[in-house]
Amino acid sequence: MTLDAIRSRLAAGAKLHMQLVDGQRVWWFEDPWEQIADGIAERLKAAGEIVELGDSLFGIAGNSQSWVIGGGVADRVRCLIPYCRRTKRASPDLITVDMGGYVAGDTVTADLEEEWICHEHWRAVPMATRRLLAAAKRKVKRVRTLTALLVLSRVWRRAKREAIEGAAGI
Ligand SMILES: [Zn+2]
Repeated sequence: MTLDAIRSRLAAGAKLHMQLVDGQRVWWFEDPWEQIADGIAERLKAAGEIVELGDSLFGIAGNSQSWVIGGGVADRVRCLIPYCRRTKRASPDLITVDMGGYVAGDTVTADLEEEWICHEHWRAVPMATRRLLAAAKRKVKRVRTLTALLVLSRVWRRAKREAIEGAAGI
């Protein structure tokens, strides 16, 4: 992948994944899957064009499994409705929750602002869903549990479905 191709995928909101395999850093994008040379990822890192999300297995800085666009270039998030070209400035809202009963002492970090629906498409989301979403967001920030995060992600999927259906005129 060329540097420009990598930058445009990052600008479109794609997450870069990193895993240590036999002591080597392996970097890739998903959907479509594309591997990035370690040297290029290191350059982007050094320039601040990518920043880590803090989801490293042992909390070690620089070892995160997920990396996103940094302040190095125009960091925009695109509306998730297919073919919508509206973008907004990325404003990551990271939350780390305890995985509790699943894996004791382990945590997972999510970006609550990873996806975005523009104002035009947001209008198709009913008030009831918006209220549920706001409540679920407040709750996950307060209790920081995996269960609350899963509830929020379920409500968000409902809002997405409603916005996409609205955009399709269903
Ligand atoms: Zn839109």
